[in-house]
Amino acid sequence: MSIIETSLAPDIESLRPSAESLRGSTPSPANMPLSVQADTSRPAASQRSGALQSLAEPVLVDSFARRFGYLRLSITDVCNFRCSYCLPNGYKPDGSRDFLSRSELLRVARTFVSLGTRKIRLTGGEPSMRRDLEAIIGDLRALPGLEQLVMTTNGYRLKERAALWRSAGLDSLNVSIDSLDPRQFRLITGENRLGEILAGLEAAWAAGFGTIKVNTVLLKGLNHHEFDDFLCWIKDQPIQLRFIELMQTGVAGDYFAQHHLRGAELEQQLLRQGWQLKARAAEDGPARVYRHADYVGEVGLIMPYGAGFCDSCNRLRVSALGQLHLCLFGDGGIELRDLLASDDPRLHQQLQQRLQQALQFKAKAHQLHLGDPGIRAHLASIGG
Ligand code: SAM
Ligand code: SF4
Repeated sequence: MSIIETSLAPDIESLRPSAESLRGSTPSPANMPLSVQADTSRPAASQRSGALQSLAEPVLVDSFARRFGYLRLSITDVCNFRCSYCLPNGYKPDGSRDFLSRSELLRVARTFVSLGTRKIRLTGGEPSMRRDLEAIIGDLRALPGLEQLVMTTNGYRLKERAALWRSAGLDSLNVSIDSLDPRQFRLITGENRLGEILAGLEAAWAAGFGTIKVNTVLLKGLNHHEFDDFLCWIKDQPIQLRFIELMQTGVAGDYFAQHHLRGAELEQQLLRQGWQLKARAAEDGPARVYRHADYVGEVGLIMPYGAGFCDSCNRLRVSALGQLHLCLFGDGGIELRDLLASDDPRLHQQLQQRLQQALQFKAKAHQLHLGDPGIRAHLASIGG
């Protein structure tokens, strides 16, 4: 079935607000349908659609029986880079820099873990811009039940801090590198830091990080021609290179038309060069991972415009301002911060309920294929 078709039962569809209403307003407990807000004794949509869990059970499951064991937790919107597809004019504070505090981050993470979250990714913005990053890592690492604590970074401070992050309890790293050519790297990111970041990878391996994932957005007319250089680079290195297809964000309309490169094209190139698709591991999420007998490294393709991308969705996002985002491609956030004010067990319980109820609103698939970019903001503000 194509992702355009859905098999929503009409009663479930009627519970869900329209894409417009979610996008135009911020879905909050107050504007969820009353039936969903107040009556937790009614069968959950998940039960009616065949999922086994009910709202009372400590798991995060949506009405399509997808389970969400993975949280992307943004700890700041601030970034020091100006990636041309993300923050081309750099980070501009828009009034609030009141990001979740260390204790609020711990509370939100603890509640997610109590609902079955097993992996948390720290992201941003640029997470290394937070002065208390090591303390945050240490706090979250101490949560019983959390199996993996990972982080995505642009590589800033990696060289100096990799060992500290490792000893604080970070399990693994994604480092974003969009070009292996220093000049092109500066053109894309606005920063002349490629050498420093490559030295950061060495420091990370020396600190005991194993395979490092490198995120690369391949862009037509900018770095597309480096495809083979990237492959050559991972021939002898423990790197999983993750080519991320450019996503159309609010700031990247014309840019998208000019530079978008279909992931399917890259996939064809890989197949022609003898790369083979690996059996999907549970933790792969929507990535399609390829291996080649002659290479130490692997290639992961993240193709949000590809059919079926949403079927294996296993992730939720919390922004640095404390809003839950059910999908990268819907920009209405659900407020959580009012329930993060203290360690009162009642707040924890209410937060559990709000998360479980909110999940009943998660759409089956994004609308990218219908030409609706969904995202009005850049990824940096919602924990991309
Ligand atoms: N600042 C950190 C970094 O760049 O690694 C973490 C946050 S950044 C938003 C996370 C990832 O999102 C990066 O790998 C970046 O390349 C990717 N990204 C940002 N905007 C994107 C877009 N429009 N399309 C595809 N990937 C994007
Ligand atoms: Fe900053 Fe990451 Fe966005 Fe680049 S992709 S501007 S490093 S948040």
